[in-house]
Amino acid sequence: MTGFNLNKVKRHFTELLSTRFTMREANQLMRILLEDLFGIDLKQELLYPELRIDELQHATLEEAVNKLLKGMPIQYVTGIARFDDLVLHVDESVLIPRPETEGLVNHALKGFPHDRPLRVWDVGTGSGCVAIAVAKRLPQAKVLAFDIDEHALNTARHNAALNQVDVELVRDDVLAPTSEQWHHPVDLVISNPPYVREQERSTMEPTVLDFEPHIALFVPDDDPLRFYRQILQLALPQLTPTGAVWFEINEAMGEEMLQLCQSMDLQGNLYVDFAGKTRFCCVNFS
Ligand code: GLN
Repeated sequence: MTGFNLNKVKRHFTELLSTRFTMREANQLMRILLEDLFGIDLKQELLYPELRIDELQHATLEEAVNKLLKGMPIQYVTGIARFDDLVLHVDESVLIPRPETEGLVNHALKGFPHDRPLRVWDVGTGSGCVAIAVAKRLPQAKVLAFDIDEHALNTARHNAALNQVDVELVRDDVLAPTSEQWHHPVDLVISNPPYVREQERSTMEPTVLDFEPHIALFVPDDDPLRFYRQILQLALPQLTPTGAVWFEINEAMGEEMLQLCQSMDLQGNLYVDFAGKTRFCCVNFS
């Protein structure tokens, strides 16, 4: 018989993974690898207990397990991340979408009507997760997604196509803007900009530090709110009277965010994420 018995293969690689992960994690990782690499889910395994994989699949699995053992996040290993019921492609040019950011989208869309056209900006779109989730939930909206990085925009473009939504992608540096797209009215601005201070580097997981794009994570210690200030400056002249700006923020910077809003004569409100950490700031005129 050709190929490899799946049960034996699973046992072998799960054992290897358990040198770095707990048994529970190792089992979960194997599940994700089989499903996201080969489309073999638990149901298939149960239906076909004698399932076999071929040489190429075996080699693919071996390579994937080696990457996991080196600390690479599973989403980069498989190239697949899940966000808000979407399946997205990710690579190391973009941050892996976080569950907190699903909370950002939920909050931001709560107050907005679903039946009339809205203009939405996602500033610093990365994989496109926020922009695509918004476009999916508000089919009438015109969604613009900005990013400085060409690779990230290609990934976001691919993801928009994969999820069959229309998102307009704009390459621009929000800190030195040149696009004329910033000069049109907008109803809702959402952004999860870089917000980890350099001084927080030592507290971060090696899997994040070694693999995720630093350009999407870090801000200088002496000006950690630079992106928020700049986005507000760009958005405010264009924001419609009932519009809002929703930010994901550093849990340690809530007070500073409110001060920033106050200094610009704006109303800021803080919200917590699922873990109870101050994670979102809504800014508007009222
Ligand atoms: N929440 C991310 C982290 O802790 C940071 C995301 C960001 O900087 N926007 O790694």
